[in-house]
Amino acid sequence: MILITGGAGFIGSHMCVALAEAGHRFLILDNFSNSARDVVGRIGALVGRAPLVAEGDVRDEALLDRLLAEHPVEAAIHFAGLKAVGESVREPLRYYRENIDGALALVAALGRAGVRRLVFSSSATVYAPTPAMPLDETAPLRATNPYGWTKLMIEQMLHDVARSDPAWSIACLRYFNPVGAHESGTLGEEPQGVPNNLAPYVAQVAAGQRPRLQVFGGDYPTPDGTGVRDYIHVMDLAEGHIAALRHLAGHAGVHTFNLGTGRGTSVLDLVRSFEAASGRPVPYDIVPRREGDVGECWADPARARDVLGWTARRGIAQMCADAWRWQQHRATLPS
Ligand code: NAD
Ligand code: UDP
Repeated sequence: MILITGGAGFIGSHMCVALAEAGHRFLILDNFSNSARDVVGRIGALVGRAPLVAEGDVRDEALLDRLLAEHPVEAAIHFAGLKAVGESVREPLRYYRENIDGALALVAALGRAGVRRLVFSSSATVYAPTPAMPLDETAPLRATNPYGWTKLMIEQMLHDVARSDPAWSIACLRYFNPVGAHESGTLGEEPQGVPNNLAPYVAQVAAGQRPRLQVFGGDYPTPDGTGVRDYIHVMDLAEGHIAALRHLAGHAGVHTFNLGTGRGTSVLDLVRSFEAASGRPVPYDIVPRREGDVGECWADPARARDVLGWTARRGIAQMCADAWRWQQHRATLPS
């Protein structure tokens, strides 16, 4: 059985489906601070049985000890935490406290229970800003905001833990830009309030919930002047975790992988793909650059391909089609 902290969230909910497809049982631990309780039923409908769920905080070590005593957990995937970059700049202590304490509590409890296999959700935001693309795992590291620092600090902590006890097998997976939704359209991203990220914002403009997109910067040295990112379908991302779990079964130490497609897509490319997928216009205005943004960021995913045998299979058109299916389905759900 796999323990999934944050298993009710955007990536975690898709992870549950990928785990079930790969024949794994799973236990969700989530405090629903950034997810809806009804996602559990929707996961259950896709996997054909009611998921095991513990409602609580990953920082609650007594709860973790009890769950690990009661269930035959072989490995954990740690998604739970706070993830909004701008909020982390405004509330750094909250981010350090929640993200670092969560990881510390989980690793300590896993260690006590003799479970030494862990997959950690890291991020491409750990890479120092550079115009040199693509980024491979050896690129220089430096976060530019507290959220990114929590990811880097947790990676460092995991290295130290693995060095202290060679029984640990840990994967740090550095995600590029996860987008899209389950192809059924019944799971997807549920941002609260105004979306910070491009893809959910575009979806809401296409749906008529917001009038226009603001494109942050039209003067980057990119083919159309707008920012370029490596968008990866959330189901491809989830499948990357399955490959990492498999790899960890036979390999001790810390293993770091980029999970991206290796392809860059500009803001305007994404807008056009979303218009094509939805059949709806996405009106936009080009406005000044967003502070702290880099012009381009995409992955060299060769290590994950060579070591894990994993590559992203789904393209931008499918990411947009699935996100649009979810956008429409979501409108039918009770709020
Ligand atoms: P999300 O907010 O949708 O999911 C996180 C889940 O964790 C939510 O269900 C939330 O309720 C839960 N949670 C938060 N704090 C908790 C706590 N203290 N105890 C128990 N549960 C808690 O986020 P996501 O997009 O699914 O991201 C998952 C992970 O991947 C995060 O660690 C995030 O930093 C990382 N990541 C995400 C992205 C992205 O763009 N979505 C990119 C890189 C890395
Ligand atoms: N972006 C944009 N308008 C928005 C949100 C994002 O133009 O409302 C741009 C942003 O400047 C970047 C790209 O879209 O070039 C992806 O931004 P996102 O916040 O989704 O991801 P990140 O910048 O963290 O990679």
